[in-house]
Amino acid sequence: MVDIRKIYRLSLFIVRDKVDFIYSYSEFGQLIDFIPIIVDGLSYLKEKFPNKSDSWYARALARALVGVKKVSSNHWLVKGFKYFGDSSSLYNIVQLKDGKYVCDCYSRAFGFYRRGKVCTHIASVILARKMKYNFLDLYMI
Ligand SMILES: [Zn+2]
Repeated sequence: MVDIRKIYRLSLFIVRDKVDFIYSYSEFGQLIDFIPIIVDGLSYLKEKFPNKSDSWYARALARALVGVKKVSSNHWLVKGFKYFGDSSSLYNIVQLKDGKYVCDCYSRAFGFYRRGKVCTHIASVILARKMKYNFLDLYMI
């Protein structure tokens, strides 16, 4: 079982370009090979959603690394974590025909706080798709 707090700390290091720190996490050894893919994915996310905080990008990355599961060509499941303030254990993200993504956290209790903003559940799906995430099942919690 992977500790989401560790994954988040790791993600924050990557977001802040402190990739060297990753080498001290031996349990993520397999992840090191994918750093270039992750860095590419993050720069794509930063282009698409500029001016977000480091923690926003790091939450999206942590979710993409451990909690995104593809259901069909336009439907993904994203695991919820209390650590990130999620009230549900699972979220559905669907890509509409116009290309926009919707997440069912908008319709849940407290979800309205996120209305009008792109939640990190959606960001994690966009990032996971960009990274082609074949390796992510390794870390699926
Ligand atoms: Zn959401």
